[in-house]
Amino acid sequence: MEDLRVATTTGTDTVLEEAAIEEFKASLRGELLRPGEEGYEEARTVWNAMIDNRPALIARCAGAADVIRSINFARSNEFLVAVRGGGHDVAGTAVCDRGLVIDLSRMKGIRVDPTRRTVRAEPGLTWGEFDQETQAFGLATTGGFVPTTGIAGLTLGGGLGYLMRRFGLVCDNLLSVDIVTAEGQLLTASTTENEDLFWGVRGGGGNFGIVTSFEYEVHPVGPMVLGGLILHPVARAKEVAQLYREFTSTSPDELTSHLAFVTSPDGQPVVGFIICYSGPLERGEEVIRPLREFGPPIADMAEPMPYTAVQALGGDLYPHGRWNYWKSNFLQEVSDEAIDTMIEQFSAVPSPFSAAALEHLGGGVSRVGEDETAFGDRSANYSLIITSEWADPAETDRNVKWARDFWEAMQPFTRDAVYVNYMDMRDEADRIKAAYGADKYERLVGLKNKYDPTNLFRLNKNIQPTV
Ligand SMILES: Cc1cc2nc3c(=O)[nH]c(=O)nc-3n(C[C@H](O)[C@H](O)[C@H](O)COP(=O)(O)OP(=O)(O)OC[C@H]3O[C@@H](n4cnc5c(N)ncnc54)[C@H](O)[C@@H]3O)c2cc1C
Repeated sequence: MEDLRVATTTGTDTVLEEAAIEEFKASLRGELLRPGEEGYEEARTVWNAMIDNRPALIARCAGAADVIRSINFARSNEFLVAVRGGGHDVAGTAVCDRGLVIDLSRMKGIRVDPTRRTVRAEPGLTWGEFDQETQAFGLATTGGFVPTTGIAGLTLGGGLGYLMRRFGLVCDNLLSVDIVTAEGQLLTASTTENEDLFWGVRGGGGNFGIVTSFEYEVHPVGPMVLGGLILHPVARAKEVAQLYREFTSTSPDELTSHLAFVTSPDGQPVVGFIICYSGPLERGEEVIRPLREFGPPIADMAEPMPYTAVQALGGDLYPHGRWNYWKSNFLQEVSDEAIDTMIEQFSAVPSPFSAAALEHLGGGVSRVGEDETAFGDRSANYSLIITSEWADPAETDRNVKWARDFWEAMQPFTRDAVYVNYMDMRDEADRIKAAYGADKYERLVGLKNKYDPTNLFRLNKNIQPTV
């Protein structure tokens, strides 16, 4: 090994001597990777192919002890640090250029307690892996719509998923976390221990430390639920969206649905419903009848299927390794003008992989008090998400512009609030305060001052300390 240049939080690089690297490496139970070593290229790659950062060191932690050592090593050297769970953040905050990546992706331990209906899960798990374990016992908790997304980043930002209207956000099902602070101290946070920190990690992201273990409540779900897609021609998009508006005004909490504008595999723009009804199947058929009867659909693929199959649907839509840029906002209502604008903007979509969706919130999401957790805005009825995705890097400017234009055009109809996990920090750092609202943001700054005053954890939806 040779000496290594490493980026620091002061903005300058420092030279790390080989002996120090070797000493750090020997202190870890997991691997330490540096440029040129086997596994380095794979370990620096994240879901969004636009991200091409080259960390100086990647510590692939095997457990909490490795996390503590990595944090202490980074803090004492003032290294720039990134924290990686599932690697799905669209802005690629899981990897940094020339700094140290604390990579948790190998920490995949999970233990389900079917009697207490709780789960202990490590931060390297994805939702697909998590669901596979819990569904063996007929249990589940709210989890992300795409099976390859990491449980860690998603939970800490709040967590939207098919079960949210029934059981609340993912973070509402969190019972406790083990978290290593910037000082390298492992704390447990729950409603009875370090309560301030527990408030902050339920929506405040990775700002306060690195979570090494999540404890969730799980609920009986499935194994069969009513799920899938019902697609209609885009020529009927206005009526379809109006039906969705009407339908979601009375949907029961067992149903979470999206209205999605996508391109079908044969290249046709289509609009449709993506649904998951997790109550009794016969009742579910009645509930979704208006969506089936509006027709004729191009395709009706909604049927009884295992909960894990519904959770897997998003995997094909959002594969690893394409170029991605996202924009998002919460909406209170969907006016006819908002529908017209969505239709018009989607008609200019440059890539067949891009989509625009309204995700229906409410129900269990809004039943939790606004101040109980750090999550931004529980009263919004919908989240608008514009996912621009393309395969040819030469097409980047066009595809980024499409998402920006779409989002701009929707501004008259949206709230000044956004789900933090859908923010793209490459150009949206100035939206962070709006994402939480002024009061919660101030409370989060207080926590940041207490638990991470030097902003060691800064490559995230960053709450800047003021001390
Ligand atoms: C295809 C796709 C589908 C998505 N679907 C959903 C969805 O259905 N619902 C939803 O709510 N969101 C969804 N998201 C957004 C998702 O919540 C965020 O991208 C989230 O950050 C992903 O978590 P991760 O662990 O995979 O991310 P990473 O990129 O690994 O981490 C993101 C950030 O989380 C923090 N972090 C990660 N692990 C830890 C840890 N153990 N301790 C402390 N901080 C940590 C770090 O700050 C890190 O920068 C989706 C994203 C993508 C790309």
